[in-house]
Amino acid sequence: MLRIKFSHEDLCDYPIDIDIYREHTNNDKKRFIQYRNRIECHYAICPKCENPAIVLGLFKEIEGKAPHARHTKYDVEGLGKFVQETYEWCPNHVGKVEYLREPRAKDRDDREIAIYYTAREHFDQAIYLIEKMLGMKISKRLAREICREYVMSEADMYRGSCIDNIPWMLFFAKHSTSMYGRWIRKGSPLFEFLESYDKVILRPIPGREYYSVDKAGSFLSLNLTISMYNALVEKNYTKEFLTLALGRTLENDDVETVFRTKIEVDSVHFRNMINAKNVHRNDELLSIAREEMPDLV
Ligand SMILES: [Zn+2]
Repeated sequence: MLRIKFSHEDLCDYPIDIDIYREHTNNDKKRFIQYRNRIECHYAICPKCENPAIVLGLFKEIEGKAPHARHTKYDVEGLGKFVQETYEWCPNHVGKVEYLREPRAKDRDDREIAIYYTAREHFDQAIYLIEKMLGMKISKRLAREICREYVMSEADMYRGSCIDNIPWMLFFAKHSTSMYGRWIRKGSPLFEFLESYDKVILRPIPGREYYSVDKAGSFLSLNLTISMYNALVEKNYTKEFLTLALGRTLENDDVETVFRTKIEVDSVHFRNMINAKNVHRNDELLSIAREEMPDLV
């Protein structure tokens, strides 16, 4: 991996750089610099799965390799236990992951508790990114449904859930979203398809770059879902993809998939947003999150 962090509480991650490493570790020999088999090892934390990681090639050059970090596969005193299950779902380890809508069958650990509270405290920013990704306005009502399903599904405990992918896990946890009356931005993949789909009419919203989805006939049952969410690590950079699908419910209750598209989503934007200073926050969305996401007991 090419990015690390230094504490579980820190929402930032950092490039592997000698000055940054020195500044954050402060030469702490109890936590970051420890001897193992008489060899001086430099440690940090994987920002995706929060397992301890060993930093390589930073203080002693490794020929032909830039400084990087690797999961330790053992506990590091002061930095935490090595958790096999989160490691097995970490894109930095497996290279390729297809996420499932299945929470771990355990109590939340500290890492998942941090994900839950981060989702609550930064819900407005997550919704902003979902809107941007879909090219679709998320109404307050839909935001509330998204939040509610996230809590009900315990999606903060889905394997592979991390701080970075909170927005995508939030929407992934929402099984199905009716398209009727939604506002779609001109030029978005959904717009491009719906414009040519004879079961709907797109009505322009005056003064906006959005169009409202209306039914062309007497009945419209068209639902949006994420049919697949996967991640891929290429040359140490994580790429994440959401496959959006539109399904039409037929008279016999079967669902016909009428459109499918794979969208690459930004896997670091959310972390950058929540660490940015002086950003506009949406109090209405934050109060929805506070109402729907009670304190964990
Ligand atoms: Zn990891």
